Amino acid sequence: MSDTSSPLVIGPPKDATRWVKGRIAAGRSVALVPTMGALHEGHLALVRRARDQADDVVVSIFVNPTQFGPSEDFQKYPRTFDDDLRGLRAERVAMVFSPTAGQMYSGRFSTTVSPPAVALPLEGECRPGHFQGVCTVVMKLFQIVPAQVAVFGQKDYQQARVIADMVADLNVDIAIDVLPTVRDHDGLALSSRNRYLPSNVRDTALGLSRALDHAAELYKTGQTDSSKLEEAMRSVLVRSGVDSIDYAAVVDPVSLTPLVEPLPLTAANGLHAADSDRSPVAVCLIAASVAGTRLIDNRLLFPG
Ligand code: AMP
Repeated sequence: MSDTSSPLVIGPPKDATRWVKGRIAAGRSVALVPTMGALHEGHLALVRRARDQADDVVVSIFVNPTQFGPSEDFQKYPRTFDDDLRGLRAERVAMVFSPTAGQMYSGRFSTTVSPPAVALPLEGECRPGHFQGVCTVVMKLFQIVPAQVAVFGQKDYQQARVIADMVADLNVDIAIDVLPTVRDHDGLALSSRNRYLPSNVRDTALGLSRALDHAAELYKTGQTDSSKLEEAMRSVLVRSGVDSIDYAAVVDPVSLTPLVEPLPLTAANGLHAADSDRSPVAVCLIAASVAGTRLIDNRLLFPG
């Protein structure tokens, strides 16, 4: 029988740390899933993965003000705490860390984390200061919740790369696990921001996943020029009717820098392995606005 009691909800960081350290002292392993709430199936997939990896799952729910630009949607970002808690109860989450902004950032707060190089292009160019806010809050979360593993989504591909590099560079003792993007039946990547989308622009929003699929198909049939793949993605986005395109890029999957050589069509070892056993040769990333909502999506390209 499953235990569906409500997770413990803790606001003050010190109380959360005490609770986590108590679990670890009792011999239990802990996994952390950082979120901004307005939870959907994508978040819940991360929670299930976390539960596979550790005895106790902690989910943080915090809409972090420092990662939003002045003209971004911090004020109107969806906040659905009661629904979130109900969803997490069904997933047998042990603790929800849900601090206020004041509990996270005291009046004298001034220390920040300078993000790694992989934070510079793409989102880094479009959203100045965003990754400094993300790195700082995630570093704080890792101190407050000293878990053995933290689970992130590939949906925010650059964010996952930034955090992996930050953790490696700063010798943070936590494993970073990244899970594939969960999509709706029609291919739209699930996102808390999808609830801003009126139903009549759904098809336009699907332009992002269509553009990524198109690039993957072109690569599969022999197109190895990353700039041609980028052009093809842009045409699909324009035809779909997006308001504007921040970027449609095909770049190195680790550094996110431009690819100068043609993409290899076969794996280095020439074997036909499953995607999960192969290294991607590139990642396609898109950020575009649809009816005033900025959407992002991405897709890895695998050889063979
Ligand atoms: P957010 O609440 O949007 O900050 O996201 C919290 C975590 O959930 C991040 O690691 C995201 O990458 C991940 N996430 C968001 N949407 C999805 C999705 N559709 N599939 C998988 N993970 C997701």
